[in-house]
Amino acid sequence: MAEKKIDMSSIKSKGFLPQRQENMFSMRLKVVSGNLDAEKLRAIADAAEKYGSGYVHITSRQQIEVPFVKLEDVEAARNELEEKGISGGSAGKKVRAVVACQGNRVCRHGLIDCENLAYTIDEKYFGEPVPKKLKIAVTGCPSACVRPQDNDFGVMGTVKPETLEENCVGCKLCEKACKMGAIKVLEEKAHIDAEKCILCGACITACRKDALKAEKTGCTVFVGGRAGRQPKQGVKIIELADEEQLFSILEKTFEYYRREGLDGERLGDLIDRQGIEKYLDTIRCMLYTEN
Ligand code: SF4
Ligand code: SF4
Ligand code: SF4
Repeated sequence: MAEKKIDMSSIKSKGFLPQRQENMFSMRLKVVSGNLDAEKLRAIADAAEKYGSGYVHITSRQQIEVPFVKLEDVEAARNELEEKGISGGSAGKKVRAVVACQGNRVCRHGLIDCENLAYTIDEKYFGEPVPKKLKIAVTGCPSACVRPQDNDFGVMGTVKPETLEENCVGCKLCEKACKMGAIKVLEEKAHIDAEKCILCGACITACRKDALKAEKTGCTVFVGGRAGRQPKQGVKIIELADEEQLFSILEKTFEYYRREGLDGERLGDLIDRQGIEKYLDTIRCMLYTEN
C-alpha cells in the first residue's frame, strides 16, 4: 500500500514545528503579550499530559510550545485547544504574536498600557503573510525589558519631563533618580539636558514637590531590528508618537514591507537595500507631525 504523503506545510501553518525525532512535533501556541489566564494554562497542561511528554517549553518570545506531539495526534490536539480558545502560534512567512512587558498595568516604571497595545496590534496583523517574518515587541519604558530594538517593529513607552521652576526646592531627589546624568540642580533649580535624557520619567516619579511633570507621553518606534545569526539593532524613527501616529506608521511599514520586500527578505534587509530614506519617504507624512 502506498504511504500517505504528509503535508508538512499545512502542519507547520497550524503551528506544529517538526522535531529532530521522526514524526514528532512541537505544538506552538499563541500567547499575546505574555499573558495567559489560569483556565487556559490548565487546558495547556492537560494537553501536554495527553498529547505531549507532560511539560511545556516557554520560548524566548513568550510563546508556549508543547513538544513531543505525535503526527497522528496533531489534529486532535489542535482541535481540543482551539475549542478552549487557544490558537496555534505563527510560523513561516507570517506576522508573529506580539510580545510585551506588563507596562503600566503592573510595573511601577511602566509609561504605557503594553497589553492593550499588543492586543490591538495582534488583532489586526497576527498571521498576516509577509516576505519573511515580522516580529513586533511593545515595552513599557526605556528599560526595554522585551528588547524592542531587536524586533522588526519595536515600540517603547516614553515620557518627556517638564520642570516647573516655581515649585522646585533644589532637593536633588530627581538628580539622584536619573541614571543618565541628564538632570542637574544648579542654584537650587533642576535643569534637564535634553541630549542626555532618554525619556524614562524616573525624575518625575522621584520629585515630591510637583516640580516635574509629564509634558508628553508616547512611544518611541524602532524598525528593522532582529536577533539571530546576524543581529541588527532597529533604527529609531520617532519619539513620543501618539497612538494614532503609531498605528499609521505600523500600517505604512506593513504595506511597504509587503510591497517592496523580496521573497525571504527581512524588513531590516529591505531597508538596508533601499536605504532608510526610501522607507522614511513612505511614512513621511506621519514623521512631519509635530511632537
Ligand atoms: S520595560 Fe519598563 S515597564 Fe516594562 S517591565 Fe521593564 S521596567 Fe517595567
Ligand atoms: S526633585 Fe523636584 S523639587 Fe527636588 S530638585 Fe528635583 S525638581 Fe526640584
Ligand atoms: S526622564 Fe529619565 S533620563 Fe530624562 S531627566 Fe528624567 S530621569 Fe533623567
